[in-house]
Amino acid sequence: MTGPRAVPTNRHFRLESLAPGVYATIARPRGYALCNSGIVDLGGATVVFDSMLTPMAAQVLARTATRLTGRPPDWVVNSHWHGDHIWGNSAFSGAHVVSTHRTRREIRRRSRAQLVECRREFPRELRALSRPGSTVPRRERPGLRGWFEGVLAMPRSHRIVLPDVTFVDELVLEGSRRALHLLSYGGGHSPSDVFGYLPDQRIVLAGDLTMVGMHPSVSDGWTDRWIHILERIDRLRPDRILPGHGVPGTRRDLAIEIRYLGELDRIVAGARREGRSLADLRKTPIPSAYSEWTFSVMFPDNLSRVYRLARRAGAGPGRGR
Ligand SMILES: [Zn+2]
Repeated sequence: MTGPRAVPTNRHFRLESLAPGVYATIARPRGYALCNSGIVDLGGATVVFDSMLTPMAAQVLARTATRLTGRPPDWVVNSHWHGDHIWGNSAFSGAHVVSTHRTRREIRRRSRAQLVECRREFPRELRALSRPGSTVPRRERPGLRGWFEGVLAMPRSHRIVLPDVTFVDELVLEGSRRALHLLSYGGGHSPSDVFGYLPDQRIVLAGDLTMVGMHPSVSDGWTDRWIHILERIDRLRPDRILPGHGVPGTRRDLAIEIRYLGELDRIVAGARREGRSLADLRKTPIPSAYSEWTFSVMFPDNLSRVYRLARRAGAGPGRGR
C-alpha cells in the first residue's frame, strides 16, 4: 500500500512519517502516551516499538498501526522495563511482546511495585503542580500532568503483560520489504536498553537512550555505560533518531546527550573534590546549554544518582556504603 492514509487525530499523540513504511508517534503533553513509539511495516508483518504509558493510548496506537500497515501489530518491542514504555502491552492481544531477557526479568520483578508507587504518589504530585508556589516551570506542567493523570486513569485491574519472546543482544525481525534490527549494547539508561535500527533507512528508534529537548533520567542508569552505548550508536551513522521522549532528532542530538551526561560527571566530581554535601550539590543550577529543556525535575535526581554511584565506587569494596 502506498500513498497517504487517513489517520484520525487523537489526544495522545501525533503521527510523523520517518521513511516509507516507518512512522513515529510523538506523545502530546496532555495525552496518556508519555513516550514516543515507532510503527514499522516490515512487509507481511507489523512492529510497534514501545507500547506507551497506558492501555488507553496503546489502543489508539494499535488502531493507528493497523490502519497504516493494513494489519494488526504482530510484534510489540519493549525497549526497557520502565512503565511508560510497557504498560500499554495489554492493548496488543494478538501480538508477541519482545524484549531482552534482562528487561523481562526487571518487568517481572519491579513493574507492579512501580505502578503501585506511582498510584500512591501521583495524587499528591498532581496537587503540588496546581499550588501557587509550585517550583515546576509553567511550560513543563502539561507534560507532567498528562503523566500523572494517565496513570491515575488506568483501570485498577490493569494487567502487566510480560514479554513472551526474549533475546540477549540482537534479534532481527525480517519482512518482505525491510528488516528491523533490535540491538542491545547492555544497560545505560536502565539495566538493559534496546534500540531499533533500520540499516537501509539509517533510522534509529532509540527508546530512552536518547531524548531531544529534555533532561534524560539517569536515576536507574550509569553515565559511563550510557555514554559508551551512545558512542557505539553514533558509529552506525544514523540519519534520523526517534527519541523515547521529544521530537525526532539527528546524530547531533547523540552528541548533545553525550555532553550532558559527561557534564553530570564533571559537576559531581567537582563537588566531591570540594567536599560539598549531596543536599548542596542538588542545588546546582542547570547549565545554560540545557536551561530550556523540559523535565528539569530530573536534573537534581540525576546529580544524586551520579553522586551516590561515585561515592560507592570511591568507598571501595566491602566498605558497606
Ligand atoms: Zn525510561
